[in-house]
Amino acid sequence: MEARDVVKQADEAGLRLVRFLWCGNDGTVRAKASSLHGLEGRIRSGIGLTVAMQAMNSLDQLQPVEGMGPVGEIRLVPDPETFRVLPYAPRTGAMLVDQVQLDGEPAPVSQRTFLTRMEERLAERGTRLEAAFENEFSLATKVDGAFVPIDSGLCFSTISATAAQGYIEELAGALDAQRIVLEQYYSELGHGQHEISTQHAPALRAADEQLLVRETIRGVAARHGLVASLAPKPWPENAGNGGHIHFSLWDDDANWNRFHDESAADRLSAEARSFIAGVLAHLPGLCGLTAPSFNSYHRILPQYWAGAFACWGHDNREAPLRVPSVFWGMEEASTNVELKAADASSNPYLAVGGLIAAGLDGLERGLEPPEPVEVDPATIDERERAERGIIRLPATQEEALDALEGDRVLIGALGPVLAQSYLAVRRSEWAAYSAGDEAFEQQGHFLKY
Ligand code: GLU
Ligand code: MG
Repeated sequence: MEARDVVKQADEAGLRLVRFLWCGNDGTVRAKASSLHGLEGRIRSGIGLTVAMQAMNSLDQLQPVEGMGPVGEIRLVPDPETFRVLPYAPRTGAMLVDQVQLDGEPAPVSQRTFLTRMEERLAERGTRLEAAFENEFSLATKVDGAFVPIDSGLCFSTISATAAQGYIEELAGALDAQRIVLEQYYSELGHGQHEISTQHAPALRAADEQLLVRETIRGVAARHGLVASLAPKPWPENAGNGGHIHFSLWDDDANWNRFHDESAADRLSAEARSFIAGVLAHLPGLCGLTAPSFNSYHRILPQYWAGAFACWGHDNREAPLRVPSVFWGMEEASTNVELKAADASSNPYLAVGGLIAAGLDGLERGLEPPEPVEVDPATIDERERAERGIIRLPATQEEALDALEGDRVLIGALGPVLAQSYLAVRRSEWAAYSAGDEAFEQQGHFLKY
């Protein structure tokens, strides 16, 4: 697909605007739109953006980061392959962008380019990461300024599904129209909580689609007079919203799942085990990318099925790395690992790119994972947990960012500009929300993710 194909499709669909979408260090999705007039040129040479934008936190407070002040410009250059007509926004389309310097080189802060770099490192090994996001989200109405869940049904309750059915039907149609394959839907445990899973795709496409899915969940809700939130902990007393990431490594040439070994009892190959070991070794720092918000740490608590202790396990929903049992007749295709310590307030390019960097370290060093944990780790005696290295994952955003900053592999993969701006933005959120109250925290996350 090229610029002129996009223009032709946009024209045929009767679009007036095409949004150039990006996700910032703060995990929010933002856009500048082009009208059809001049679209082809803007696809080729991008839309201008101040260099300051990647120093902006989720409260629109600009942080002091070198080279990210009022002077200077980058270009938002869209990837024509990502073009979609948005079913929930009248006569509007969208594309995902890379951030490019004026000299045509990728901007070092470009999160999407970071993920591309990580994909290239995997490609050198003849592999690619396939990833799928499972998004939990909360549906609410606003009553007297407060967000009220639309249902108070039970887990997987058909009563909750009924309360949301008009919305869900339109959501399914909107995903379909954007060529995003919906796998499953159900109402979840929390009040107003619902979940969709979408089909796996190569890392970059999965991250692009995660942004389109987040936009669609919220955009369709707005058409129904509802507010949809993917905030990790939308209400303090209610279940948290996970944004679990399923992943597996595939062979680029022969297209087989390199995580799968039919001779292993749990079907996991040696390569899968090393990848898991790498992710586990970097998990505290990785949390700074996959569960990166102040609000994230009101979700990652022991016994909330979000994975609060560094461990892996088979069908263990208290393990941040869960190996799901395979499905009959599709053993190879369904061999994968799920990262539960992840939510949709992350920048998906950073989350998936960080996951690859961590896994690659496991592969390169030939790491072996520790014994899997096949019980709820919170029930293991504290001393035994310490002996087995089952450490508590970061308990606050600040701890997660400290762990990230101390992780040489992850920081090295991000590169200095991205690492520095990311930490500045996220640390400033910690400062703002830890000085505020619960209402300020909710207000600051409910409508932003
Ligand atoms: N809501 C849980 C979370 O915060 C996940 C529940 C589940 O699907 O296992 O991740
Ligand atoms: Mg769930």
